[in-house]
Amino acid sequence: MALKQEDLLRDMQKCFNNLKVEEDKKETVIQREREDSIDIRCTEFPDFSEEFHQIIKAGWLEKTPPKGGKIYQRRWVQLDSEYMRYFQSVKEVYSKRMVSLGSVDKVVSVGDLRFELHSQSRTFLFRAESTQERNDWVCCLEKILSDRKNSLEPRNLFFKNGSVNIHFEGYLEMLSPRTKIYTLISRDKLFLFKSHEEYFQGVGITDIDMRMANVRDGENKRSFTLTTPYRTFSFVVNSESEKVKWCELLNECVSRSLSCDGVCESIWRVPTNRLCADCSSAMPEWASINLCVLLCEKCAGVHRSLGQNVSKVRSLKLDERVWTDDLIRVFLLLGNGKANQFWGANIPPSESLCVNANSEQRLQHITAKYKDGKYRKYHILFGQQEALNKALCSAVQFADLLETLSLLNCGADINCHTGIPQFPSPLSLAKHSGQTVQAELLMQNLNSETFTPVVKDVSIRSHSGYLFKTASSARPITDNKTKADFSQRWCCLGDGMFSYFKNEQSHNKCGGMKISEIICLSVNSPGKHGYEHTFELYSEEGRVYLFGTDDGSTAKNWIRAIAMAVLPPALFDVCGNCDRLGRLRCTEGSNGIGWFCLSGFKLQVLLKDNIQTIDLRKLLTLTLCDSSGSMVLVWRGGPLHLLADRRPHFVGWQTYIQQKSGAGDQPLSQQQLTDLGVPVTIDRCLDHVTRHGLLSLGIYRKSGINSHVTKLQERFQNDARSVTWCESEYSVDDVANTLKRFLREVKDGLFNGQENSDSWLRAAGLEDRSEKIHRYQILLSNLPDVNRETLRVLIHHLVCVQYLSDENQMTIRNLGIVFGPTLFQTDGTDVTASQVVEELIQNYCSIFNVSESDLQRQLNMTSDVLNKHKSQRTLSRTPSSTICAVYLEKKEESAGVLVQVPADMTAFKMVSVVLEQKGIQQANEEFWSCYEILEKEEMERTLHYQERVLPLYFSLSCDCHLLIKRNHYIIGIMRE
Ligand SMILES: [Zn+2]
Repeated sequence: MALKQEDLLRDMQKCFNNLKVEEDKKETVIQREREDSIDIRCTEFPDFSEEFHQIIKAGWLEKTPPKGGKIYQRRWVQLDSEYMRYFQSVKEVYSKRMVSLGSVDKVVSVGDLRFELHSQSRTFLFRAESTQERNDWVCCLEKILSDRKNSLEPRNLFFKNGSVNIHFEGYLEMLSPRTKIYTLISRDKLFLFKSHEEYFQGVGITDIDMRMANVRDGENKRSFTLTTPYRTFSFVVNSESEKVKWCELLNECVSRSLSCDGVCESIWRVPTNRLCADCSSAMPEWASINLCVLLCEKCAGVHRSLGQNVSKVRSLKLDERVWTDDLIRVFLLLGNGKANQFWGANIPPSESLCVNANSEQRLQHITAKYKDGKYRKYHILFGQQEALNKALCSAVQFADLLETLSLLNCGADINCHTGIPQFPSPLSLAKHSGQTVQAELLMQNLNSETFTPVVKDVSIRSHSGYLFKTASSARPITDNKTKADFSQRWCCLGDGMFSYFKNEQSHNKCGGMKISEIICLSVNSPGKHGYEHTFELYSEEGRVYLFGTDDGSTAKNWIRAIAMAVLPPALFDVCGNCDRLGRLRCTEGSNGIGWFCLSGFKLQVLLKDNIQTIDLRKLLTLTLCDSSGSMVLVWRGGPLHLLADRRPHFVGWQTYIQQKSGAGDQPLSQQQLTDLGVPVTIDRCLDHVTRHGLLSLGIYRKSGINSHVTKLQERFQNDARSVTWCESEYSVDDVANTLKRFLREVKDGLFNGQENSDSWLRAAGLEDRSEKIHRYQILLSNLPDVNRETLRVLIHHLVCVQYLSDENQMTIRNLGIVFGPTLFQTDGTDVTASQVVEELIQNYCSIFNVSESDLQRQLNMTSDVLNKHKSQRTLSRTPSSTICAVYLEKKEESAGVLVQVPADMTAFKMVSVVLEQKGIQQANEEFWSCYEILEKEEMERTLHYQERVLPLYFSLSCDCHLLIKRNHYIIGIMRE
């Protein structure tokens, strides 16, 4: 009985409330339909239920229509701690209504499976499918309401925390369905209300999560759109300025929505992102930003091992800077759920990966899944290149990221030409279409898949302009091209491509290449062809492209832009302006590839991950293997093997490296140099004279044998590094005169040209001594490094020579007479040249900033050594013969042979004496020689058969010995 009374009361109350609502409605909104809300259904549905709110309870309920209509409407109802929302269906993202629980006073069960929510102004009536279900709803709601009442938070009808976080509010006109709505931006959401009054009553339509939204200009001045993955909202406002304001504030809201959580929290809001895409481990903190999957630490490790060109792994927590708003959105929109619809569409249960998989299983599964594409869902256009490219160009202009991911990984060319000159690549087209998330996905995939020997982060490098171009060639371009051979082309560098068109407006590409296919850029010296500035590009497949322009800065900018695109960033950062750059097969490089940059004599090399700078002039040896074409450069840092390559770029590298490694017919600074930076020719001659000629009477004054001097000079000029000789081969006078001839004939001379030479000569005329010394110092510091160092070494040597003038008779005056005309390359009529040399010797310490005591110590030492040597030599010269120890076939005690060697014994004679002594008969086809063996350097030299043994024997150092063995080289020749 009591129950019935209560029911009656409730029914009465319900009628009253409904009446009250009806009264409100009459005054405010004219309903177009019997619905109590506007219809904003999705055009695209999410493929999983996105739990953006912590849902407490959800289920189907029937709801009374407004105005007391009789027909119940079936609604999907969700309850969280703040709102009760109802939707047209389970799949809908945007609610038809959201009621703030802050505005609800109580919830009551009424008869017939029904319950009601009572607020100050409204009552909402729902009917459940069963009593149990109804009781559950009421119970949940009561619990929430009592929690809210007990909390100390300020009571607010719509927002839990009052209106402090409202950034902007006002009326907007929505198009489709066309209706005026009250709109409010709060924190990271946009709330829609039917009216301002309803906002105060605590009843809204829906809220839009702005993390996935995109604000764009509309078709007319007063309209704009808000695109979400599920539908597009179009709005019109009263004025253009109002539109600008809304767009600005909505964009702020978008970025606020992405930044208010950490990257993890943002990305994990999508439930499928909370499990590793490969093994389903919980809360994956890593991501492959090109494959668009979230990964646990173990799977991330395997991904990393596949290489950056397959999977670019980044941490959600550590690599903060990578996570731009757009990249986060790629993972919200695509994420594991959708990406796996593509990557893992066909994983047989037997091949799926579990949380506890071992590393081998992981490697197998992940390689099959991403690298081999074993489980992927092949795009319907797979295999039709043109159609794929077309589909890609179309896809990037719309929101469907999965389509783009699928196209990219089924063969569509990310660099294909869109046919639109202003937006030639899919990337530029995506940007133009306002699809920033598509653009982000494309950028992360720009360098994937194509093989790049050295990984570099993708960045957009673009450059465009007119250049002149000749027809490409399969051979090095050796002839001179006139302007008539060139045609004008509009060239574009960007999005991983270098392309050229007939003109700026042209849609059809005349040609081009992927940047990853450019293996070499070579800059020609100005004026080589009809256009003043030209450069060549060499492609992977072995073609040469010649480009030119008359404008120096245009050429420079192009070279710089191409260098930036082609070179690994580490090398580009240090290379500056270069003459030639690119990659070569190189034994010491990473994966057999080294990156090289040549500017002048400086060769910068990137091997593995360190950059080395080699001064080509200072190479220890440079060997060209004629048969294979390989090149071996030995420098202080070790050897560098450049493997032969038949393509045209390699010939160019060979030529350049040879030219830049120093040449005998060039000025001092372009000669082959020692580590100290002194020409090798000068160093070897000075060394020889120092060791053997300082005590020689009239050294530098006496002439050598002209034919010897000419021969030695030619050898130096040809390849100074390879020149060695023994003391007996050339007299000290031969060597001294070779040095003089070199200095007299070297291009530009020691003083670097006529003009500079004249300055030195003029300085000699200065009266004041200290002023003169000062002037010499200035002139010295103005000399190029190589010239200055050479002058220092030479004058130091002459100081030594004059110190021993008691023996050699070469006083400062005599040295001045000899070296003046030599160094100044004059005929000797003007004595000023001699005066300069004399003064340089006299004032060596002050001009070259050397301490007097150091010099004195050096001179004493030299003199001691030489005098000791002299006494030994006089001894060794007196006897007509001496006993020498040589080895036969190998250096072993048992192989030692003592042999009487007369002063005039030749190597040939000694070999036959030793063989005879040992009872060895030389067979017809055999040939034995004597070798000088340097143990430390593991080198051997065959003695010329006429070379006299004794002088050599005395000059051998302790780690050298003589060895007699079969000469297989000669034997080989004789057999042929
Ligand atoms: Zn995993």
